[in-house]
Amino acid sequence: MDTTERTIGVVGEAFPLRPGVLMPDWSLVTEATAHEALAASMIAAQRSEKLSGLNAAEDLIWRTILLAFARSVAVPDVAWLVARTDLDEALVAEILRALRRRDLVVLDDRGMAVQAAYPFSAQETVHRVHLAGAGAVHALCAIDALGMGAMLACNTAIESSCPECGTPIRIATCDDGHALASVTPGTAVVWAGIRYADGCGATSGCTVKLFSCSDEHLTAWRQRVDPQGAGFRLPVEAALQVGKGLFVPMLAAQPDGGEA
Ligand SMILES: [Zn+2]
Repeated sequence: MDTTERTIGVVGEAFPLRPGVLMPDWSLVTEATAHEALAASMIAAQRSEKLSGLNAAEDLIWRTILLAFARSVAVPDVAWLVARTDLDEALVAEILRALRRRDLVVLDDRGMAVQAAYPFSAQETVHRVHLAGAGAVHALCAIDALGMGAMLACNTAIESSCPECGTPIRIATCDDGHALASVTPGTAVVWAGIRYADGCGATSGCTVKLFSCSDEHLTAWRQRVDPQGAGFRLPVEAALQVGKGLFVPMLAAQPDGGEA
């Protein structure tokens, strides 16, 4: 890592994801609570250590997987990735294992198919996201659902529900996924729980990052499910900022106009 690219200070720590692209993008995170929640999540998931030093082949396969999910390819697997890159099967399988160690993907038992790649899940979740001009996909958690639109530069319509009462929660984004168009009900909030285990955010932190219909039901859910759990209660706008700061860099091209 080129230490001159590290930025430590009021904007928070960032590291180079690929040439010219810093992770996270703190310029998209202006709310203090959003800043705290993202910083805590980065540390809990050891993202700086896990993502640093991504090589070009890993980066290519990772971005190919993300775009596959965005285009509703059901489950990108080794054969599908081999057909779309110049890499051979053994190398693609090895890269998938490397991406798994970096906690960028979740693989099936054989390690040959991608079951999830943050923010996407091949399996149904409570967070369904309609992508403007494309299909609908499932997100691993509330933050992933919110960050997806800006990552793909498209407007989204998110459908989720309150874990306490089942009330539908609908959020629409505009400005290519960068801003909130509507939040229903207007009392909805986000809980960004901080948890990490077994080297896998999908089965740990993602289970405690959710939408609630109201502060009352968020309090009730925490008391019922995770009374000791650390985390941040965020207005939806602040949670959107957390999602943007984390996910926009994932498909960002280098500033000189390299391929995205
Ligand atoms: Zn509720």
